[in-house]
Amino acid sequence: MARSIVALVGRPNVGKSTLFNRLAGEPLAIVDDIPGTTRDRLFATAEWSGVEFDIVDTGGIDPSAARAGREPLSIGSAEFIKEIRSQAELAIQDADAILFLVDAISGLTPADREVAQILRRKQQMVDGKPYPPVFLVVNKADSANLRAVASEFYELGMGEPYPISALHGTGTGDLLDDLIASLPKVEEAGEDDSVKIAIVGKPNAGKSSLLNRLVGEERAIVSPIPGTTRDAVDTRIEYNGVPITLIDTAGIRRRGKIEPGVEKYSVLRSLRAIERSDVALLMIDATTGITAQDTHIAGFILEAWKSAVVLVNKWDAVEKDSHTMAEYTARLRHELNFMDYVPILFISAKTGQRVDQVLPLALRVQEERLARLNTGTINRLIQEAQERHAPVVRGGRSLHIYYGTQVRSDPPTFLLFCNDPKLAHFSYLRFLENVFRKEYPFTGTPIRFVLKPRH
Ligand code: GDP
Ligand code: GDP
Repeated sequence: MARSIVALVGRPNVGKSTLFNRLAGEPLAIVDDIPGTTRDRLFATAEWSGVEFDIVDTGGIDPSAARAGREPLSIGSAEFIKEIRSQAELAIQDADAILFLVDAISGLTPADREVAQILRRKQQMVDGKPYPPVFLVVNKADSANLRAVASEFYELGMGEPYPISALHGTGTGDLLDDLIASLPKVEEAGEDDSVKIAIVGKPNAGKSSLLNRLVGEERAIVSPIPGTTRDAVDTRIEYNGVPITLIDTAGIRRRGKIEPGVEKYSVLRSLRAIERSDVALLMIDATTGITAQDTHIAGFILEAWKSAVVLVNKWDAVEKDSHTMAEYTARLRHELNFMDYVPILFISAKTGQRVDQVLPLALRVQEERLARLNTGTINRLIQEAQERHAPVVRGGRSLHIYYGTQVRSDPPTFLLFCNDPKLAHFSYLRFLENVFRKEYPFTGTPIRFVLKPRH
């Protein structure tokens, strides 16, 4: 389900992170330790009265994060103002609603006026109302006296101030009631049996170009479904009679040129597209090679247990000889080493090279994602694996897997009954996974093993 994006904006020290943490609540339980995955708390999903929304701490979207390690900017300096400005601009461009934080203890400051001015100037009128809506949040209003100070902020021209204390959690109820009332209504997706294919990757990788080709060449567009939020626009197509929803995250770029910080929002949109998808097409720009952002997105695909196809795009622009593709593949496999089951296709969205293979490959991946192995086969594989390669003895004991069964597909999940799950080493499960994949490839799809002690 598409969620709205709510950005927290304000000068440093007003309490953005404190409010963020309060709204985010408990961090999600980490199911698995996945190498190559980093979890920053740039964004989190919050919920109020049954409405979920994603919050973004713009403090975390520091356009000059590259400056990390340098001295903090002095307050009031030109660079400081510039930075605050660019954060506010990003938020207004990409969020569905904004919580603009100010500080009751320090009162109104020139930086607050600066932020207010940008927000007001960049809001657009939609249906007679400023969009996106901005909520003026007067934080650190810990006492009745401080709450009274809130009215001082009326002069920012951002409507009625909401006095809250992020630290104590007071005043946030009224704020959140009004916030969720302002968010675009999310329509529940109806019964939809289409295969959801998300096109993800960093800005400029060629996502829109590919989408245009896929849609243009199939000529079977059913209808473009406008997103209810400022999210991706979904496109319905049919391929050989199979209904497909293409989830496109490229839209963000069309609204303006790329500022450094926008990449973070684009990551967020990619993640949301991934969540809604069955198969993610991870587009990599062959001319720039794989970047940290690509591995980051790959990590999320894996974490969400989604299937993937890697598309190395702009292959037309790469100077190559007969070894280039093999070398490139080896490098990619190395850098995405936790996704060695993912197929790689070298394409050019510009010339159309191998674009005709994209959907058949994605559909094959989806088909294998839904496949089931019968219990007899699973038990044979478990026995063969243990005969070929007995689990190592640890502390005088070793793992014994007695039998297993596939408890679900989408993604394929195998329940394995053993003497003691704690004895199962990651590398042994990797070995077992390879044995399973030799029997049936599950191309592009992660396999999940759940170990249970046999009673
Ligand atoms: P950010 O820079 O905007 O992310 O601000 P932080 O969340 O890091 O908060 C800055 C400081 O203000 C920290 O020392 C917080 O503990 C404090 N703070 C945040 N919220 C409140 C509040 O509601 N009341 C008070 N008294 N202090 C707060
Ligand atoms: P997006 O930001 O991921 O949606 O990327 P676009 O589809 O807008 O493409 C970004 C730029 O790369 C544009 O200038 C495209 O013309 C160019 N581009 C896209 N695909 C290819 C390709 O296969 N080969 C070459 N040479 N350029 C491409």
